[in-house]
Amino acid sequence: MRNKVIITSIFLVLVYFFSNFQNIYSWGFFGHKRINRMAVFTLPPEMITFYKYHIEYITENAVNPDKRRYAVEGEAPRHYIDIDVYAPEGANPFDSMPRKWYDAVAKYTEDTLQAYGIVPWHIDVMVKRLTQAFKDKDLDRILFLSADLGHYVGDSHVPLHTTVNYNGHLTNQRGIHAFWESRVPELNADDYDYFVGRAKYIKNPLDYAWETVEESHWQKDSVLKFEKELSEEFSPDQKYVFETRGTVTMKQYSQPFSDAYDKKLNGMVERKLRKSIIAVGSFWYTAWVDAGQPDLTSLLNQKVSEKFKEEIEELNKKYEAGKIHGRDHE
Ligand SMILES: [Zn+2]
Repeated sequence: MRNKVIITSIFLVLVYFFSNFQNIYSWGFFGHKRINRMAVFTLPPEMITFYKYHIEYITENAVNPDKRRYAVEGEAPRHYIDIDVYAPEGANPFDSMPRKWYDAVAKYTEDTLQAYGIVPWHIDVMVKRLTQAFKDKDLDRILFLSADLGHYVGDSHVPLHTTVNYNGHLTNQRGIHAFWESRVPELNADDYDYFVGRAKYIKNPLDYAWETVEESHWQKDSVLKFEKELSEEFSPDQKYVFETRGTVTMKQYSQPFSDAYDKKLNGMVERKLRKSIIAVGSFWYTAWVDAGQPDLTSLLNQKVSEKFKEEIEELNKKYEAGKIHGRDHE
């Protein structure tokens, strides 16, 4: 009887942690931080000194938008777009979705767009806001918007951020979201090649964001299919391991399963991470060029405002208090 109770409680603890493990973040906190950090090194000399000076801020705050979804209503849809809901099975949803926001609202209503995600339009809005911040030489806003923009651009590169089956829940593959964007990169990120070249000017940020989403969307078929195929080759106890971090035990995809998946995807996760890095640098660069290439060295003797610091502290407190708004998608 006692053993039974112990076994049942162990089981319940594991179920609890497994359900926590389902709690998913875009690129994981790890991936987002790395993308923003490495994007700094793509910048031209006129920008890199400023961004390097603030590289810790840009890195640490890469995850603010994910934290904010605990505190801010309306945050969640900015991280994804379930584009497949706009077309019947087999049809191309990109043929029916207008790329411009007001055309899309006219066709589908704003409520519908918000319900299924707005990431490409939000990237465009963020580029415009960052451009304005550069024009105003507003240090707080430049930092805040650069970090945030990097996050949303990173999300648009994740295939499972473009589908209604975002966590494999429709195909019995629950957990695949965090697997692709957190587990695989965390295991391999030190071996990735981060030389991605120099930031380039993006003529049309909205088109670029749409092209990224479109590419991501067509990749989600392999993302789902390969996991399914490998799950047939691996028994459940080969597929998963229990890992203890500190006092917490978590059910995780095993290293052999993760390696086999990464290999089958032929380096897709690394490629997408690299693409995210160059895209983030290019969007920052574009906003700076559109603002008339302001001299950023004059900002180096400025400090971020106390109000700005307090706002970030407040966000972290709210995040720790942990109230979720919207679905676990981003
Ligand atoms: Zn996100």
